[in-house]
Amino acid sequence: MDYIALAIPLFFLLMGIELAWSAWSNRKVYRFNDFVANMGCGIGSQVVGAFTKAGIFAVYLAVYDNWRLFTLENSVLTWIVTFLLIDLLYYWFHRLSHEINFLWAAHIVHHQSEEYNLSVALRQSWWQGLFSFWFYVPVAFLGVDPITIVTVGAFVTLYQFWIHTKALGKLGPLEWLFNTPSHHRVHHGSDPKYIDRNHAGTLIIWDKIFGTYQVEEEEPTYGITTPLNTWDPLKANFHYYQDLFRWARQARNWKDKVRFFLKPPGWMPDYMGGFQAPKEVDRATYRKYDTDANSRTVAYVVMQFTVLLVVTTFFLFQQEQLGDVRKWTTAALIVIWVMDLGLLLEGGRHWVRWAEVLRILVLAALLLVSTDLLQGAVATAGIVLFTTLSLLGLWWSYRPQAGALRAA
Ligand SMILES: [Zn+2]
Ligand SMILES: [Zn+2]
Repeated sequence: MDYIALAIPLFFLLMGIELAWSAWSNRKVYRFNDFVANMGCGIGSQVVGAFTKAGIFAVYLAVYDNWRLFTLENSVLTWIVTFLLIDLLYYWFHRLSHEINFLWAAHIVHHQSEEYNLSVALRQSWWQGLFSFWFYVPVAFLGVDPITIVTVGAFVTLYQFWIHTKALGKLGPLEWLFNTPSHHRVHHGSDPKYIDRNHAGTLIIWDKIFGTYQVEEEEPTYGITTPLNTWDPLKANFHYYQDLFRWARQARNWKDKVRFFLKPPGWMPDYMGGFQAPKEVDRATYRKYDTDANSRTVAYVVMQFTVLLVVTTFFLFQQEQLGDVRKWTTAALIVIWVMDLGLLLEGGRHWVRWAEVLRILVLAALLLVSTDLLQGAVATAGIVLFTTLSLLGLWWSYRPQAGALRAA
């Protein structure tokens, strides 16, 4: 059962409410380019998950079937204990994801946005799931059945959606026990006093017990200490690995090469400058990354993004019917799709337009060989129409605008 995919309509409803709140209260919390990048990361992580979920479940099942210590009955008590355990293990996984470089290289994606809104909750690493599930294997070993583990795990993830908002202030007694928007805003702050604080999933008590709790004082500056400066989700998911390998190459001995992957972010050997402590953010001069795409490109991206959502939803719910070739092709297309949209919003280098042409044509071919799932003639007409409109839209958005011509 894919709980995250099932919750997609609820995500959009709540983001709509947040957007309405933002207009009503005159606080701009969404930027279109940042939103598209966040969603691109979220979509990619669901697509990767479609390939890894079964394997992860098989590991839990193998441990449960062959090596479990107890056989726990499916009772309310079991569920409560499982929830507490998984929430605690999540805390440690999340904390170590901030304190160990090779884990941070995946988790960093969630922290790259310089905005704070519900779409940031969906900004997820594509690889993190491959690291996190090991932390829950002991629960299967204890004798909790895999379905309970996956369900409780999904709950801990889904719980964290609503706390990614500026719309809610402090929530009274709820703040004592639960992770709240206020606690989690701190977690996304790049100010030195907020860094590596409040790693909780559902219950904030773990941070209070293990000494990583920080109360929200002035509003955090959101993002990472070295801004990503791109809307490209592919780059977002690879850049810190690239950094780690580059540094490791520069290291003088094997010990230091390995250390780069196991030490906390900021670690450097002395001969490379020593530990790079996070610097205080100067709010007066700090500028968020931004780009100014022309209105035609934005219109084109809106159109393609809408269709991307439909194709992704279709992919997530029909993945079993697709067969291997179509499944891999669709996944590859979605990855190129989110990359293209991000890069187009940055002004798009020439090759991005050609990548888009190719992407549109391969998508058309893929849809045409999928009419078994899309019912016949109407679908075929729709695909031809959409493909034509896409290519025309791309061409139209590429022409210089009247304003640009005047300036020239
Ligand atoms: Zn984090
Ligand atoms: Zn978060």
